[in-house]
Amino acid sequence: GEAFLSVRDLKVHFSTEDGIVKAVDGLSFDLERGRTLGIVGESGSGKSVTNLAVLGLHNRKKTAIDGSITLDGQELTTASEKQLETLRGKKMAMIFQDALTALSPYYTIGRQIGEPFMKHTGASKRDARVRAIDLLEKVGIPHPQQRVDDYPHQFSGGMRQRAMIAMALSCDPDLLIADEPTTALDVTVQAQILDLLKDLQQEFGSAIIMITHDLGVVANMADDILVMYAGRAVERGTTREVLKAPQHPYTWGLLGSMPRLSSDVDEPLLPIPGSPPSLLNPPTGCPFHPRCAFTDKVSGDRCSGERPTLAPGRAAACHLTAEQRQQVFIETIQPR
Ligand code: SF4
Ligand code: MG
Repeated sequence: GEAFLSVRDLKVHFSTEDGIVKAVDGLSFDLERGRTLGIVGESGSGKSVTNLAVLGLHNRKKTAIDGSITLDGQELTTASEKQLETLRGKKMAMIFQDALTALSPYYTIGRQIGEPFMKHTGASKRDARVRAIDLLEKVGIPHPQQRVDDYPHQFSGGMRQRAMIAMALSCDPDLLIADEPTTALDVTVQAQILDLLKDLQQEFGSAIIMITHDLGVVANMADDILVMYAGRAVERGTTREVLKAPQHPYTWGLLGSMPRLSSDVDEPLLPIPGSPPSLLNPPTGCPFHPRCAFTDKVSGDRCSGERPTLAPGRAAACHLTAEQRQQVFIETIQPR
């Protein structure tokens, strides 16, 4: 059937003093209800920008959007600010990296959780408070009756993150976008928050987009993974496929920087040298070629001269043949 969220050939270009930044440059993906998509890449890969465009939270004056984003059949790229505002909260909600930027210090936790509910459902203040207590309980805040009137500064970092999740769930959204939701937290709390999101998805049945630079975060959480580089998708597959048999040199690099299970050597196996390219003047051909260790396996100057495309389904955008990739993977990446 028709995907719940469908992104087609999306381009998000910013005008800056120095020229046009092609932050997202031809991105397509689908997401079904009740599934979690992990969008993985370094900062500057376009993953956050993509999701701001989905939510309609980009700077409209300085941004040109091309292509299509449909949510439940409704086109978002041409929706008015008013339509988007209705959709945000009701149909889609965002969980930010840092709860302190999402929560206002001036209002109680309970009021901030209840407000979207009041706004979008016309519920009374009293009902909104009941809803807030209920959600605080769901996200695992002990004694929610006593904490609902607290201010954000009275919560610990992990509790604030939980409160922000409660706020996002206020109107029972169908799509939840979480941008590096656990980066600011210590490892134990991180795991608890990811578990919580998983449980809540079971209960609420929403689709989740999990944006992260860390493949480890999506390993236990996402059904599917989209790896982004320089504003494009370079690899797509189920989480199992991408983690067990990654196909793109950039993904190999990302995996190489994950903690190793079967070795006590500390350095990453295949670190990615250099840094993400400027999107003012993106590299020609494959945008990864200045950092790729395998260009000599590809004949001619194809890596620097020809942009590899991403086929539908399980795929990687790379000129290496499937056999070459498998060989490199077996010889270089796997023995760790
Ligand atoms: Fe590396 Fe060439 Fe594949 Fe790009 S197309 S990832 S440069 S081998
Ligand atoms: Mg980001």
